[in-house]
Amino acid sequence: MTATVSGPPADQAPSARRGSYWITTFGCQMNKADSERMAGILEAMGYRPGSDEHTADLVLYNTCTIRDNAEQKVYSYLGRQARRKRINPALTLVVAGCVAQQEGESLLRRVPELDLVMGPQHANRLEALLTRVENGQQVVATEEHHILEDITAARRDSAVCAWVNVIYGCNEHCTYCVVPAVRGREQSRRPEAIRAEMAELAARGFREITLLGQNIDAYGRDLPGITSEGRRAHTLTDLLHAVHDVRGIERIRFATSHPRYFTDRLIDACADLPRVCEHFHIPFQSGDDEVLRAMARGYTVERYRRIIDRIRDRIPDAAISADVIVAFPGETDTQYRRTLDLIEAIGFDQVNTAAYSPRPGTPAADWPDQLPEAVKVERLREINALVEKVAGQRSARYLGRREQVLAEGLNPRDPSQLMGRTRTNRLTFFAADPGDGRLHRPGDLVDVVIEAVRPFSLSGRPLGRGEVR
Ligand code: SF4
Repeated sequence: MTATVSGPPADQAPSARRGSYWITTFGCQMNKADSERMAGILEAMGYRPGSDEHTADLVLYNTCTIRDNAEQKVYSYLGRQARRKRINPALTLVVAGCVAQQEGESLLRRVPELDLVMGPQHANRLEALLTRVENGQQVVATEEHHILEDITAARRDSAVCAWVNVIYGCNEHCTYCVVPAVRGREQSRRPEAIRAEMAELAARGFREITLLGQNIDAYGRDLPGITSEGRRAHTLTDLLHAVHDVRGIERIRFATSHPRYFTDRLIDACADLPRVCEHFHIPFQSGDDEVLRAMARGYTVERYRRIIDRIRDRIPDAAISADVIVAFPGETDTQYRRTLDLIEAIGFDQVNTAAYSPRPGTPAADWPDQLPEAVKVERLREINALVEKVAGQRSARYLGRREQVLAEGLNPRDPSQLMGRTRTNRLTFFAADPGDGRLHRPGDLVDVVIEAVRPFSLSGRPLGRGEVR
């Protein structure tokens, strides 16, 4: 039951408080997708996008608690808004996302000016919750909740690429991770609902879809049905086959994978389905088996390497990206060096790096062998340098190649250029005008001859329409 903390009874007519809104999003793609949907709901309610957070009538912070610094950031933002609210009580102040879920009512004690505290599972219920606020109530919505299929059109940041949630939450127990506690248990969407959303997006001109899940390989585990061969009826592989032929969608991506559940069947589907892009995001977190055991990740380094080898057998040019944590409690220098060795051995196109950050309520946070900050800083510095070196080596293979790039928008640094990504997810910049005066536009699939490479991006010359190199 959503808590009503204070205010008059619900039946009083709401006052017309629908001015401008501002959303600041912290954290992962799941949060970005939630913010797009909440923006869509606010606009359907009659709010209009504000120009900045200091003048908006409704301010919503969609928060992240994956690391302490992400959590602390929101309190400084809230401090400023609380001062605004004391001067202008008509301001509506909302905290959504993972800090809201983690802290719940205690956030109201810390920031009494807040109107609404809502967990990620309640994103689609924003209108109902704000209606209670408009009736003068202070609302906390953090109870476990079955996520409703949301019909409101999300207000998407891109007009070309869109996120589509396929599974919410996570049932894993990685000892460092706060996600299961703040995003709840796995809830898979029905394949028909996902396909319908993709078709609606295609009709609006979107060309690329990224299917999203904290642990996307768990897709369908909670949906009923067993095939005649005795396996789950709904898996990510089945979903890719089910949505592959949505007219207008040229590219399909998915994230985030889990090595524990990654299957050969999935690799074969990615190799055989032409619209599925040749990029895999598979966090490995550590290159040492003992550390992986302490993290409760459920796989070994050997198993991880076998997955990558299998991918490269079927898709030799596939791009591999990952996430890694350094300085996990008790991680010795030798164990850390195994992580560096794995990065060199695999040759990752990109690795998102982070130093271990103890999170409230997670097992590892209470372990005695926490490493000093200085070790965290040094290991992070060293691993970032290695990741950049290896990414540079990987980027070198593009030089002189002709790559298909989906133009996503103008290069903010040079408006005569477009920017987009290769099928292998490498950011690429190129001139909008191929020289025949027929400009390329966002949404175009453009063949680009790569003329310059950098560790994490490329530049090149676009071929004109019908030009054959
Ligand atoms: S798989 Fe592990 S790291 Fe990923 S969201 Fe779930 S608990 Fe967190």
